[in-house]
Amino acid sequence: MNYLSTRGDPAARHFSDILLEGLAPDGGLYLPQSYPQIDAATLARWRGLAYADLAYEILSLYIDDIPADDLKALTKRTYTEAVFGTPEITPLKPLEPGLALVALSNGPTLAFKDMAMQLLGQLFEYELKRRGETLNILGATSGDTGSAAEYAMRGKAGIQVFMLSPNGRMSPFQQAQMFSLQEANIHNLALQGVFDDCQDIVKAVSNDLDFKRRHRIGTVNSINWARLLAQVVYYFAAYFQATRTDSERVSFTVPSGNFGNVCAGHVARMMGLPIERLVVATNENDVLDEFFRTGVYRPRGAAQTLETSSPSMDISKASNFERFVFDLLDRDADRVRQLFGEQLATQGYFEITAEERARMSARFGFVSGRSSHADRLATIRLCHQRYGQVIDTHTADGLKVALEQRQAGTPMLVLETALPAKFAATIEEALGLVPPRPAALADLESRPKRVQVMPVSVDLVKQFIVDHV
Ligand SMILES: *Cc1c(COP(=O)(O)O)cnc(C)c1O
Repeated sequence: MNYLSTRGDPAARHFSDILLEGLAPDGGLYLPQSYPQIDAATLARWRGLAYADLAYEILSLYIDDIPADDLKALTKRTYTEAVFGTPEITPLKPLEPGLALVALSNGPTLAFKDMAMQLLGQLFEYELKRRGETLNILGATSGDTGSAAEYAMRGKAGIQVFMLSPNGRMSPFQQAQMFSLQEANIHNLALQGVFDDCQDIVKAVSNDLDFKRRHRIGTVNSINWARLLAQVVYYFAAYFQATRTDSERVSFTVPSGNFGNVCAGHVARMMGLPIERLVVATNENDVLDEFFRTGVYRPRGAAQTLETSSPSMDISKASNFERFVFDLLDRDADRVRQLFGEQLATQGYFEITAEERARMSARFGFVSGRSSHADRLATIRLCHQRYGQVIDTHTADGLKVALEQRQAGTPMLVLETALPAKFAATIEEALGLVPPRPAALADLESRPKRVQVMPVSVDLVKQFIVDHV
């Protein structure tokens, strides 16, 4: 399988070429040249597979430059009951007939990002060893991504992680999760500033091409194709659990920010998985809901990006979204370059045609909705009272929109993107109770911490990296 860029760079690359990269050289995102089509016999064969074997089958359709035995071993090592808590890895949690959560958040950091990041850790270690190279991952986090990356890369040969976070601004649980890691290859830098300061430093270091090359700086951001591909697997796994035959259709609702998770659902649907609707659920930062309702894509500035009680969806632009638009426009790379490369830069938004708008739901199954803090509280209460389940704030955004968009006769599956223990304050506000926490994490906040506090300074961060590689 070869990969191309959404902005037209035809340079055919293989999976391992793009694994360690971010954007394509022309500024686009990588996508496979075509989506492998799953026929009825294949779907029937996959139905009985264990999660790791299903992951191998799907990955192998997109990866032709890792030997089959190696890929099989990587998926087996990644998707284990020991790491994800159950033999199913992503079990369904039924709420009522025709409505269920897909439990994606039982990995080490209690959010769905572990599903992809754990595989990325294995793939990076494998590929770096094969090339005889090392990599220093530099990232900025306000919560879920940083911890998922650290837990995936801890102790991995040839990899060091330098994770910047805003000092004192993450929840005590999130801080403890990251800072309690004792592995020598994990470095937590708490900067005396806000998240945007951290992100600016990552950009400044990455733009210093000489420093970047000399110190082998890389990233693990959400546009990484391998992360997206890993997420395709649980759409299949959930489908098999929710249906008895391959002629049934289901819909998914996905709490969305950067459009990574739901883009994986789009890929699964393009491969032929019988998905009726893909429902995009946003919070008050409703860039995506606006697009699916009006056909206008208008990223926001930092000042118009609201801080909400589902903070992992507080985005100003949806960094994976260009992938879907590429497919929506029949893979017309010139048009994509015009919209994302030129119109966004000059006028700050773009608008698609009425015919293209109609296509989003008719051909691609997309619909959307949004949620507010009040909706979130009401949905957490409703779910607790009606179904006896405590859900987190992001999943609540999903369930709120799912209840609006579900259709009679088609099961609706809501992706559970985090566990409530991670966002305890809002759960207490809604229910007046402290959400349950996995027993293994009972003493998390009292564990010894490894963190370096420093002022907001590109030079100090660079010096820290130089001193530790
Ligand atoms: C990252 C995240 C999301 C948003 O996922 P995208 O792939 O960026 O759309 C939703 N919920 C939680 C808990 C997250 O960590």
